[in-house]
Amino acid sequence: MTLDFEIVVAGAGPVGLAFAASMAGTGLRIALVDPQPAQALADPADDGREIALTDRSVGMLDALGAWALVPASEVAPLRRMQVLNGPSSYAMQFGAGPVGAIGRFVPNRELRRTLHRVVSAQGATIIAEKAVTSTQLDGQSVLARLSDGQALRAGLVVAADTRRSVLRQQHDIPAAMHDYRQKMLVCPVAHPMPHGETATAWFEYGRTLVTLPLNGGRSSAVLTVGEPEAAGLLDMDDAAFGEELTRLYRGRLGPMRPVGQRHAVPVVTAYAQRFVGRRFAMIGDAAVGMHPTTAHGFNFGMLGQDALARMLRRALSSGRDVADPVALQRYEAAHRGETRLFFLASEAIMRLYAAGESLPARLLRDGALRVGNLPPFRNVLAARMRDPDRGAGRPVARDGLREPVAAPGSR
Ligand SMILES: Cc1cc2nc3c(=O)[nH]c(=O)nc-3n(C[C@H](O)[C@H](O)[C@H](O)COP(=O)(O)OP(=O)(O)OC[C@H]3O[C@@H](n4cnc5c(N)ncnc54)[C@H](O)[C@@H]3O)c2cc1C
Repeated sequence: MTLDFEIVVAGAGPVGLAFAASMAGTGLRIALVDPQPAQALADPADDGREIALTDRSVGMLDALGAWALVPASEVAPLRRMQVLNGPSSYAMQFGAGPVGAIGRFVPNRELRRTLHRVVSAQGATIIAEKAVTSTQLDGQSVLARLSDGQALRAGLVVAADTRRSVLRQQHDIPAAMHDYRQKMLVCPVAHPMPHGETATAWFEYGRTLVTLPLNGGRSSAVLTVGEPEAAGLLDMDDAAFGEELTRLYRGRLGPMRPVGQRHAVPVVTAYAQRFVGRRFAMIGDAAVGMHPTTAHGFNFGMLGQDALARMLRRALSSGRDVADPVALQRYEAAHRGETRLFFLASEAIMRLYAAGESLPARLLRDGALRVGNLPPFRNVLAARMRDPDRGAGRPVARDGLREPVAAPGSR
């Protein structure tokens, strides 16, 4: 049996869901397909990811009706960031000053849960426990084949199926991929000393150690380490793991005690050479898979889905096809313009930090921090953290015009 939709979204992750929500009110029939069970999509398990949201992402989530559904207790403010280089006492610092935050942390599972609620309420079809395995053009439409052999007919297929996107490969779209051969291990920890709502990242002996400030005197410990070291850390019991964290973090926050599960993901980055094809577009990590330490994957995903939705809405309002090639090209140009330089720059920096402890690497990193601390660079970095759209800080209206400054709740 073939079912008809205007848009099929492969992947009901946070960006696929946000895109479906951005198309609300168009009257289009939208289906989202995801291999995960329905219950896991509606109420995702904790995956340990604390997502640092920029003001702009918060504004977009608010415009979609998702931000109001995030419990205030799950939102933790980020006021300052500092980056340290191994034993050097020199730190690059930037922060919002006495008022305001430069970002907010929200658990990934909350983003997924609230966006799922929004999309379900708008009446989109969510097909669980099936993957989209391929797409095939068929006259003026495209057939999305599912893992159970069923096919969905659509005007447009949007792939939001992770940085190792099956559909990107099936469309023969090359991507610059880099496997760091490292794992990022995350775990919530309690500690006696206050974190001061400051995120700290420091780089030593080929590892990156980060603490992200959470509510209730807790932090998220984020360790990027070689694969064998990650396996050892995952094997430890809680007491030994806490002692090891306290040692690695040099007791900066006092003794650390794990208060949740440990999760580890491989560190792989990806940047697709093209974001669109005939009746096909890619968003989220499938298009731009940032290094997680940059805290921009989801933020860029929000920008991309918003750009695609705006271009499609504009095409539809002038009576053009849902997969209008001009609209798709405009999305590609806009999203590449937003992300490419930042991706390249962040890759250069992350590879420098993954380079180990040779003297040239250490000196280069120390130099980079000193340059980054000069007022013009620091201001650019801080503005970029606040808003990857170069500090505009305002959501974009459905017609592509800037809305007046929004008040995304009191959080
Ligand atoms: C530890 C960690 C910390 C991070 N911190 C931040 C941060 O602070 N700020 C930030 O902006 N970003 C952060 N990120 C990145 C952010 O989590 C990702 O960019 C974001 O999850 C991407 O969303 P997505 O929907 O594109 O993909 P995903 O979240 O990967 O979701 C993809 C979905 O597609 C489904 N799928 C896979 N294959 C198929 C298929 N063939 N057909 C149908 N469905 C399929 C999957 O089941 C999944 O549900 C972090 C990442 C990690 C790992």
